[in-house]
Amino acid sequence: MQLLEDYEGYVADREQALAGLRRYENEATALEIEQSNDAVHFLYIDKITEAASTFLSGFPGTCLYAAKANPHPALLRLLWAAGVRHFEVASIREIENLLVVLPLAQLYFMHPVKSRQAINRAYGLGVRHFAFDSLDELRKIKQETGHAEDLSLLLRLSVSQAGAAYPLDNKFGATLMEAPLLLTHARQIAHKVGVTFHVGSQCLEVDAYANAIWNIANMLEGCGVKIDMIDVGGGFPVSYPDMEPVPLQDYFDAIQKAVEECGFQDIDLFCEPGRALVAKGGAVAVRVEMRRGQSLYLNDGTYGSLFDAGQLGWSFPIELYRAGRLQSCDEVSSFQLYGPTCDSIDKMKERLDLPDDVCEGDWIIFRHLGAYGYAMQTKFNGFYSETMVAIESATQNP
Ligand SMILES: *Cc1c(COP(=O)(O)O)cnc(C)c1O
Repeated sequence: MQLLEDYEGYVADREQALAGLRRYENEATALEIEQSNDAVHFLYIDKITEAASTFLSGFPGTCLYAAKANPHPALLRLLWAAGVRHFEVASIREIENLLVVLPLAQLYFMHPVKSRQAINRAYGLGVRHFAFDSLDELRKIKQETGHAEDLSLLLRLSVSQAGAAYPLDNKFGATLMEAPLLLTHARQIAHKVGVTFHVGSQCLEVDAYANAIWNIANMLEGCGVKIDMIDVGGGFPVSYPDMEPVPLQDYFDAIQKAVEECGFQDIDLFCEPGRALVAKGGAVAVRVEMRRGQSLYLNDGTYGSLFDAGQLGWSFPIELYRAGRLQSCDEVSSFQLYGPTCDSIDKMKERLDLPDDVCEGDWIIFRHLGAYGYAMQTKFNGFYSETMVAIESATQNP
């Protein structure tokens, strides 16, 4: 586990990590004082720190944060203050933004299909870990890094997505059949060679990681190729109203067991959580602008931070705030929620239960939305929110 003592420099502790972010005791006070016209994003200091320490102390290797889940600078600094030093990135813009916020961060460029400019610039900025899943990409990496001799190259493999609530569909990744040839070529140009995979996001199947590790071990044994690194990717789950995963430690234990049984205990092990590091550390409050019968019109929607709720019908813990107070939900009824843009797909796929008397001016808080909420907002139609505030203690909800 990396401790705060290694932390060199420009952010002394989490107080400074949050500099520039307004901080409130609780959500009610925040909403009352902010008087925001846009949705309000909450960052829960303790929950971020807690999730980071779960990974840093429990995962039997190095933990990378997958920056796409939520790249807000305050969140990145908070993770850093909690001890996270390694970050998974997929684009040159993610790299540049990260280095502005955390100049000493170790970056891993894990998109298997990168532009030549992106590879070249990333190498120039000090990135040495790159993913690939084809000979074409290997050639690009070789040429754009000027035949560098200090590369760590990770072959992205496609693995079963069967345990994932949000499968990534194997858009990327070489097959196990293709792997020996690709690894052999990588070995010729790389300082270190490894494999990486992603079991799909919100993976509820503990054994998915171990199964992938076993398949890789069998493939390597069959072809006699050796590797220096294994990266088990992201996909670690968090709880949502209709998904209650087993504790993360069970996942870590299963991974460690597979690593040992496959004889990988001496190679570098990485994981790349996005969702599991930050989902519970965030929430978004959206305001009801109009009620018409059982329809509610909101100031945020599927083009904003509610893509997963809207398009996927994913359910989040929700609560209603009125005039700075939490409303009790004695009498509930179901409502169709609409986002603010003029597009007809800007609505929630499923109806949501809310207090019967919900009305204009009420705020609906969607919890466990620290991942893939703020990060996925578009500016379509002029509706989006840069209002992020820190909350000292979440009023409720584990
Ligand atoms: C999105 C992504 C992650 C993070 O996935 P989560 O399911 O949020 O943990 C990690 N690695 C890669 C390569 C990704 O694309």
